[in-house]
Amino acid sequence: MYIVQIASECAPIAKAGGLGDVVYGLSRELQLRGHWVEIILPKYDSLRYDQIMGLERIYDDLWVPWGNGVVHCSVWQGYTYNRRCFFIEAHSPDNFFNRGALYGFQDDTMRFAFFSKAALEFLLKTNRRPEVIHCHDWQTGLVPVMLFEMYKYVGMDRQRVCYTIHNFKHQGIYGSDILWVTGLNRPDYYSHYDRLRDNFNPGALNMMKGGIVYSNFITTVSPQHAWEARFTDQGFGLSHTLAIHQAKFGGILNGIDYDEWNPEVDRYIPARYGPRNAQDKYGNKEALRDRLWLRKAYKPIMAFVGRLDPQKGVHLIKHAIYYALRNGTQFVLLGTSPEPGINADFWRIKNELNDNPDCHLELGFNEELSHLIYAGADMILVPSFFEPCGLTQMIALKYGTVPIVRAVGGLVNTVFDKDYADRPVGERNGFVFHQSDTRGLESAVNRAIGLWYSYPDDFSALMLTGMRYDFSWNWPGHHYCQVYELIRAK
Ligand code: ADP
Repeated sequence: MYIVQIASECAPIAKAGGLGDVVYGLSRELQLRGHWVEIILPKYDSLRYDQIMGLERIYDDLWVPWGNGVVHCSVWQGYTYNRRCFFIEAHSPDNFFNRGALYGFQDDTMRFAFFSKAALEFLLKTNRRPEVIHCHDWQTGLVPVMLFEMYKYVGMDRQRVCYTIHNFKHQGIYGSDILWVTGLNRPDYYSHYDRLRDNFNPGALNMMKGGIVYSNFITTVSPQHAWEARFTDQGFGLSHTLAIHQAKFGGILNGIDYDEWNPEVDRYIPARYGPRNAQDKYGNKEALRDRLWLRKAYKPIMAFVGRLDPQKGVHLIKHAIYYALRNGTQFVLLGTSPEPGINADFWRIKNELNDNPDCHLELGFNEELSHLIYAGADMILVPSFFEPCGLTQMIALKYGTVPIVRAVGGLVNTVFDKDYADRPVGERNGFVFHQSDTRGLESAVNRAIGLWYSYPDDFSALMLTGMRYDFSWNWPGHHYCQVYELIRAK
């Protein structure tokens, strides 16, 4: 099958979060399965050019209708780890993609509406006719709208769209001027509740809603989050739209890239190990203690790795630090926060615990250290408020680090409680709590620490079960192929 991904991110060349990882990981899996995959991205000035091979300008005559005029674009081609990418460069005074960052500008909706239009125009003009166009998040929500309202009538009538939502919180809300610049026009038609009108703001249009209404299939990044988006406030106002379109909506769990996250070959850790020599993991525990000046004592290490964002359950993380220390456990945290208040709070805790030999808070982004933490810690804490999929718990499982998680989103689909899960004992791989107050957390943390001290063999068995789980792209790739097969024009 010929599949084109149109996205605002692709790891490692343009990544702000999980969306980039999915575009990268899924494309690889689809290629391994024999499909022809191409990725269309904006040509940001902040691309990691050192990670793009053979970058060359291949098309210089792309004139994209925009407002009253046209915008001249060039298209570049390059490869990132064998994935074929096209980059759209706009020669416009709006300077759409040369801003030093991917997002965060007042005209973001215009920038990505333009990108969506330019990507379709590129497919049209170069006679590329993929069977499936796969779009992601609000940035490309207008692709199916323009495809089925405009491009279908000029030769793209057999293309079908799969639309993946990674985060319902950001939806691309805009005014009707976007209809005029993209050439969609007809504000009365699009402002209808059944089309693009925002569900709660009748004067505004919603790009993500457009993606949902017009796509042939919509996915989000875990089955549990699909349910939450439909039936709880985690749909951020789109639950009713999803209800109307439920027949074409489902959740597919993300995979992780085991070339990158595998303790048997990890280049960042001093002691490599797998399920057959799991005890070698403890070489990394010692290395982690050396690196972070933790004392060498007979204690487990609990870790947190991630963004210090309210979404991640910041107050529970803070509580866990003190609770773990009081209960014979060392604590390591690696994280950053874009919010100054949260950052200041963690700096205060860091200073307060500076002399504590059982605790280290590393406030920054450090890819290499994250590998050592996954390998060296005994337990990882993920107490999120909401978590569409979550990668940290899946990585931790592969590294034999037992996850302690709150039962939300993808965490529900990947971590099964040792004592209470509705699964055979041999499939249980961690600790789960439900409430968002500190009691639930304490109970799960207690059970984990208790098992480590009192039943070390059972704790090792739990680690091994986790290590044997397969959260690679194999299954997700299979599921996406089923979706593509379902929607492609017959
Ligand atoms: P989200 O996409 O919501 O940030 P995920 O769990 O899906 O959360 O993915 C987080 C990824 O980012 C993981 O690979 C994690 O290791 C990495 N990460 C997060 N914070 C840091 C940090 N401060 N340093 C290094 N890696 C980090």
